[in-house]
Amino acid sequence: MKRKVSLEEISDGRLYERNDMVKAGCGGCEGCSACCHHMGKSVILDPLDLHRLSVGLGMEAARLLEGPVELSVTDGMVLPNLKMDGKEEGCRFLSEEGRCRVHTFRPGLCRLFPLGRYYEGERFWYFLQVHECRKKDRTKVKVSRCLDVPDVPAYEAYISRWHGFLLAVQEILETPEGKEKAKEINVAVLHTFYLTPYEEDREFYPQFYERTAQMETWLKAL
Ligand code: SF4
Ligand code: SF4
Repeated sequence: MKRKVSLEEISDGRLYERNDMVKAGCGGCEGCSACCHHMGKSVILDPLDLHRLSVGLGMEAARLLEGPVELSVTDGMVLPNLKMDGKEEGCRFLSEEGRCRVHTFRPGLCRLFPLGRYYEGERFWYFLQVHECRKKDRTKVKVSRCLDVPDVPAYEAYISRWHGFLLAVQEILETPEGKEKAKEINVAVLHTFYLTPYEEDREFYPQFYERTAQMETWLKAL
């Protein structure tokens, strides 16, 4: 999601890479669930996020979209995000005790918090969002530990590729032809990356790259 603020306003002024230490350790959050409330539509899910939720909960992606996940328009594209609702405007995955019920397969943006990603083209760095997390005495942790994924370089390569793909689609959607076919394009992206189940006996990343290549071919032929 593009933000209209400068990095200086929201960060400590530094950009981090996976092996850097950053003051983002929240010690298990100790009962705080502030960032699981009032997040609007900002917790956008990438294809791996929805796949992990789907496998972890044993629920088809389409069913998730009828409950805890919703579709919203972000930078001209229709993408899924965690739904925040109820009196407290909270995530549907939050338990009454304020704990995340999907902790082991929670979405990437939840794992990253209070870090964010800063992109230049397809390349990205991490930054510390200094106004977001309520914990005052955060400890220093390695960025890669915050990501909480088994293969960090493979995960980062996937994030870059997905971001690059989204940028390319957004560019197409700004052209007169793209505007005309916006619905068709958005439906194709949703079906290809989110609604069509990934084969469980194959790794996610190769399947994602295959689908990206197929979509790029399809977009070129439009
Ligand atoms: S998925 Fe878990 S960590 Fe993420 S907003 Fe929901 S309850 Fe919080
Ligand atoms: S605001 Fe900080 S301490 Fe509170 S739940 Fe979020 S990451 Fe944890």
